[in-house]
Amino acid sequence: MKAITARTIFALAIASIAAINCSSSSKADSMKDAKQTQNPYYSQTDTTKLNVPDATWKKILPADVYAVAREKDTEYAFTGKYWNFEGLGTYYCAVCGNKLFRSDSKFASSCGWPSFFETSRPGAAIYVSDKSHGMDRTEVLCGRCGSHLGHLFDDGPPPTGKRYCMNSIVLDFVPDAKNPLAPGLTPGK
Ligand code: FE
Repeated sequence: MKAITARTIFALAIASIAAINCSSSSKADSMKDAKQTQNPYYSQTDTTKLNVPDATWKKILPADVYAVAREKDTEYAFTGKYWNFEGLGTYYCAVCGNKLFRSDSKFASSCGWPSFFETSRPGAAIYVSDKSHGMDRTEVLCGRCGSHLGHLFDDGPPPTGKRYCMNSIVLDFVPDAKNPLAPGLTPGK
C-alpha cells in the first residue's frame, strides 16, 4: 500500500510536469505569428546574422519573394505594394524580419520603387559592387540574412543625398499602431 501510494504520487508529479511543459509550449506557439511558423528564421528582434543556404530559403519563401531576395530579380516599376505608400511605421526584411527603414526616411520618388534616404540603423544593410547588366551600381543586401533588397544611388534628397531603391516584395511594413516595437514604446529608434 505504501509502495502504491508513493508510485501514485510519483506518477502524478510526472503528469503535472508534463502538463506544465505542454501548457507553456502551446502558449509559446500561440504567440508566434503565422510568418514565424512558416519561416523559423523570421524575427523582428533577433539581430543574429543568418547563413541559410538558398536551397533552404527556396523551401520557406514564396516563389516571387525568393526570386528577388535570392536570385536578384527586380519587380516592375510602379507595381509593388509600397512605391506610393505613405503609412507611418517600420519596414522589415520580408525574408528574415531585420529592421531596415522607418517611414520617416521614405520619400516620394518618381522611379516607381519604394525609396528611402537612410536605413534605420548602421548595419541594417550591407553593400556590394554590382556591375551586372552593363551598369556600375551598389547593390543593397539585408544586413542579417544577405538577401537582395535593391540598389543604392546618389541622387536622393537631403540630409543624406542617398536613394535606397528597394523592391516592395522584400519589405514587410508594420504600422506603428500595431507594433509593440515602434519608437516611443520601447528603447531605440
Ligand atoms: Fe533579411
